[in-house]
Amino acid sequence: MPFTALGLAPELVRALEEQQYESPTPIQKKAIPVGLAGHDVVGSAQTGTGKTAAFLLPILQRLREGPNGALRALVLVPTRELAEQVVERAQAYGKYTDVRAAPIYGGVPMEPQIRALKDGVEIIVATPGRLLDHMGRGRVDTSAIEALVLDEADRMLDMGFAPDVHKILSQVPDERQTFFFSATISPEVESLARRALREYTHVAAAHKVEAADGVEQFLIAVDRAHKRHVLAHLLTQMPSGRTLVFTRTRHGADSLSRQLRRDDIDALPIHGDLTQAARQQALERFRRGKVHVLVATDVAARGIDVDDIVMVVNYDVPMDPEIYVHRVGRTARAGAQGVAVTLMSPDEWMLMWSVEKLLGRTLPRETLPGFEPSVEPLQPVLPIEAKRSQGPTLRHRRGRTRRR
Ligand code: AMP
Repeated sequence: MPFTALGLAPELVRALEEQQYESPTPIQKKAIPVGLAGHDVVGSAQTGTGKTAAFLLPILQRLREGPNGALRALVLVPTRELAEQVVERAQAYGKYTDVRAAPIYGGVPMEPQIRALKDGVEIIVATPGRLLDHMGRGRVDTSAIEALVLDEADRMLDMGFAPDVHKILSQVPDERQTFFFSATISPEVESLARRALREYTHVAAAHKVEAADGVEQFLIAVDRAHKRHVLAHLLTQMPSGRTLVFTRTRHGADSLSRQLRRDDIDALPIHGDLTQAARQQALERFRRGKVHVLVATDVAARGIDVDDIVMVVNYDVPMDPEIYVHRVGRTARAGAQGVAVTLMSPDEWMLMWSVEKLLGRTLPRETLPGFEPSVEPLQPVLPIEAKRSQGPTLRHRRGRTRRR
């Protein structure tokens, strides 16, 4: 199905062609016609599904005509990285319109943001705290807002933005179109959705919490002490390309990337203890392919918008199974193929079991000869019928395994 079949204006279709988007992703197919008809949309979609275009295209279509210079759409996001990324997308999709978009987020000087607000901008993409700061100083006129987006609503709540979001909601006109996107729907998310929306159409990207299609997932059982050797092995033996490695802590991200560099693997850490400049520099180097491995914490990774991530490695099994789905969603974006490997030590079996329960299937377990775990991994017994993925095994893929 071409984008024109969705009812998009020619100038938007032209910009999409330039982006080499051939056809809409499933969430775009469902959300764009509803959005163009002016209805509220609730989308269950994680990063990588094309959700950003699903809300930006109807908004750009609405804003491309009519008065310019007034703030007419507000997108709330949890992180500065996501704010930058959404603005960049709005500029790409809106290239042949006069609609302007600007990011607003904390941790950077106010001045450029004040200037952008004074010059006039139709779309603001903001983190809630800094936006309220500007609003409190009378710099943002919200009276003409006709479209509101809550993007990654679950993350905004996780990060403690609920009071700020509620304050902002009370200051935007009730007469508006609202887009509400969240990868997961918890009771808290639902209550925020009830507050923000009236009648809406629900669109889902795929299975509510299923990891992105096209990701081949498997586990390697290994003792904690040997994880770094197995990781170094994976990074040197698996298909080369951009890899995101997740650790639970900032300290873990730092020390692991140091160890990898000692093994001659170009890796950089990215986490919240680094300055904004250092984070942006690491991202830029990753994006340009100057460095192939980023070792990230979950919070820092949220805003990473880099295509062609070929592999995600869970160096630690996440404490929250839904985080697993978010991590895995970083690869195989927009229909591409990717690999997600989880290094699971015996103390993490229970955590992994929760992940598999959420996925509704067991993942293939492998070991690396020479690095077998000291205790045999339990084969989980799932209450549901387990569907085993039949993907190629680590051994097939590499052909040989040897202790380094
Ligand atoms: P998102 O889920 O919005 O973060 O988008 C994930 C990635 O998919 C982004 O890099 C987009 O540029 C890309 N993308 C979005 N829609 C499409 C499409 N219809 N065809 C190809 N790529 C797309």
